[in-house]
Amino acid sequence: MKVEKTAVSPTRQEDYPEWYQQVIKAADLAENSPVRGCMVIKPWGYALWENIKNVLDGMFKETGVKNAYFPLFIPKRFLEKEAQHVEGFAKECAVVTHHRLEATEDGGLVPAGPLDEPLIVRPTSETIIGDSFSRWVASHRDLPLLINQWCNVVRWEMRTRMFMRTSEFLWQEGHTAHATAQEAMERTLQMLHIYGRFVENYLALPVIQGEKSESERFPGAVNTYCLEAMMQDRKALQAGTSHFLGQNFAKASEIKYQSAEEKEEYAWTTSWGVSTRLIGAVIMAHSDDNGLVLPPKIASAHVALLPIVKKADDRAMVMEFTQAMARELEGRKYHGQSIVVEVDDRDTGGKNWDWIKKGVPLRVEIGPRDIAQNAVFVGRRDRSPREKESVSRDVFVGSIVSVLDEIQQNLFNRALDFRQEHTVAIGSRDDFYAFFTPKDQQKPEIHGGFALSHWCGNARCETKIKDDLSVTIRCIPFDGDKEGGPCIVCGQRSDKPVLFAKAY
Ligand SMILES: [Zn+2]
Repeated sequence: MKVEKTAVSPTRQEDYPEWYQQVIKAADLAENSPVRGCMVIKPWGYALWENIKNVLDGMFKETGVKNAYFPLFIPKRFLEKEAQHVEGFAKECAVVTHHRLEATEDGGLVPAGPLDEPLIVRPTSETIIGDSFSRWVASHRDLPLLINQWCNVVRWEMRTRMFMRTSEFLWQEGHTAHATAQEAMERTLQMLHIYGRFVENYLALPVIQGEKSESERFPGAVNTYCLEAMMQDRKALQAGTSHFLGQNFAKASEIKYQSAEEKEEYAWTTSWGVSTRLIGAVIMAHSDDNGLVLPPKIASAHVALLPIVKKADDRAMVMEFTQAMARELEGRKYHGQSIVVEVDDRDTGGKNWDWIKKGVPLRVEIGPRDIAQNAVFVGRRDRSPREKESVSRDVFVGSIVSVLDEIQQNLFNRALDFRQEHTVAIGSRDDFYAFFTPKDQQKPEIHGGFALSHWCGNARCETKIKDDLSVTIRCIPFDGDKEGGPCIVCGQRSDKPVLFAKAY
């Protein structure tokens, strides 16, 4: 059998983790920075984040959320206010201990001016936002308070991977305060469902929504809810979380209000976030051995126009045709935004492949012979690179919106089929261990996938699975089987199956 050469090497089959790095490089999304664990996001990658941000921001605002901005630095004593929060984040905090530099005799610089109280670079902002909320909330009339911020956070990571796990990353964190537990819980779930709609409809990624087990909860939360998506190596990726914080942070930060009955009460708070990890999820779930594949609704550009000029005499005519087409396409709307067109007029042979690697949904080759027939030569990123067809120019321009929608839907269906193919209900402990044990020790990343199995609720059983197989409970799904059965570890009764997987 002839093995077809791929644009990215190694392939997913050969070495999935390395394939992921090579896709990022080939698509020019980001690069490692001189600071360990941090990354430089390049324009093609940053455009994805801007698109994600714009859509989500609109969805938040529709529900009454307003944006604000809080400081990067948090006084150490703030972080100490909530015991579980401290425990959860202390080990990964960057700490600022000095406030200036002094020149040394040999021309170097040394930190000087130690701070009386060290400052923490925010790993998340519950405590500093809680401090503001304690001043903004006085009466029940000030509630609900619905705030979001778009910012960067730092969690000191030892093992990093671009977009998936970096020491500094971009995200949004929503923080709300409410008069009642019920209202706060409703908001927690409302935001989870907004994330669910966004990830499925825009990132073309099917997700399973549910609640985290106690050990996987956000430090300081009463309940944590999440979305879990399957990547092409069958591991789970947490695509977003929403936390019901009860009154824990309200008590730590003194967020109190006067009720209608003139009683002083603590507020009930929530927090919820998604990060640049979503870009990692898009790369891992949709891309192939020829590079990045972008869902049209968040793509950095929708179409690349590639004028092909072989003879100098043709140049003016081909470019004029291309520019006119670009202007017409840019005048069309796709889900509320203008179609984004890239015109690549370089005279290089490989430019078609460059755009395949960059994952642009549509590629259009335009040469003198096509123009003579008022046609263009179109390639779609959801199909094989060799599958290209001649389409009348006017038909292409007229149908671009429906073609982009079709690509978007194809990517979703493909991801859903893949997940269903690798999700199984497992009842016996032996089958469970076999499912999660790699068949080929050379490729430990290839294993079963998602298992729906019973768990009694005891942390000991959960830890046993984690220690033996590096498999964790991703969530207790809202939907699905509600039938009882014996715990996969101890055999004790459980109400319904939970979702087990290896995870990023
Ligand atoms: Zn058990």
